[in-house]
Amino acid sequence: MIKEIKGLHHVTSMAADAGQINAFFTETLGLRRVKKTVNFDAPDVYHLYYGDEIGTPGSVMTYFPFGQMPRGKRGTGEVGVTEFAVAKGALPYWKERLGAKGVRGLRDDSFLGEPRLEFSGPDGDSFALVETATRDRTPWTGAGVPEEAGILGFHGARLRLRDAAPTAELLGFMGYQKDQTEGAVTRYRIEAGNAADTVDLEEWPDAETAAQGAGSVHHIAFAVEDRAAQLEVRKALMDTGFQVTPVIDRDYFWAIYFCTPGGVLFEIATNEPGFDRDEDTAHLGQALKLPTRYEPHRAKIESVLPDLSA
Ligand code: ZN
Repeated sequence: MIKEIKGLHHVTSMAADAGQINAFFTETLGLRRVKKTVNFDAPDVYHLYYGDEIGTPGSVMTYFPFGQMPRGKRGTGEVGVTEFAVAKGALPYWKERLGAKGVRGLRDDSFLGEPRLEFSGPDGDSFALVETATRDRTPWTGAGVPEEAGILGFHGARLRLRDAAPTAELLGFMGYQKDQTEGAVTRYRIEAGNAADTVDLEEWPDAETAAQGAGSVHHIAFAVEDRAAQLEVRKALMDTGFQVTPVIDRDYFWAIYFCTPGGVLFEIATNEPGFDRDEDTAHLGQALKLPTRYEPHRAKIESVLPDLSA
């Protein structure tokens, strides 16, 4: 069994409009943009990162705003809900704030005794704020969000699957322990993680497979401390029969990817080197950062990327 995984690292989704998703994360949710770079495989598209002050692994939501792109269709084989943690008692603040800002899909719910507020992103993305213990995490308090209500990072993610069993087995191999079940949803939890430590599996046996588009999660990344741990995980997965990509340099972390039996794309990402490797903490996310190979094309790339207000 793998012992190196520490919880979630980041969640990456797709959006239609760069300005709209940027405003949603910074002005509505009050997170910090910690990196403004491009899709390394398509440099005419931004790759935008949002999180806490330094983009601590377990707090980082990232977006590819592809421009004119049809919305995704919800279904199985995808991350159904991305969940952010807030302190106990914070949900009434958020319900009022999100309502005042015209956020759609607001719905009170609970799971395993934790109150949650579900809401939709600009492209119909499915999110939830979950009240939980703060676990030594410090929120970024942008856009007037008070300290006691600020988003602490991820709580976890809920995967929707036609058959949860193969993915449950994989999570067990990755070090997750089965927790409780409520309705069609079973919680898996990693011990000694980074606090973004739950993955919930929701079984939808009769549903259609999801179609990815704007508002869909593209992949979900799990954290390991460093490159040595990543190589251990890669070997263990490959020895178990998974097809895993070679290690890819993403400038702010090292990444490997593999397809999972339920259809969700998983990534294993390193905590090193982090988002402050090429700009100081005070100015994270402000300047456009390009991987070295695209620097010669900076002027052209900047000319096609939309301006972001802040
Ligand atoms: Zn990723």
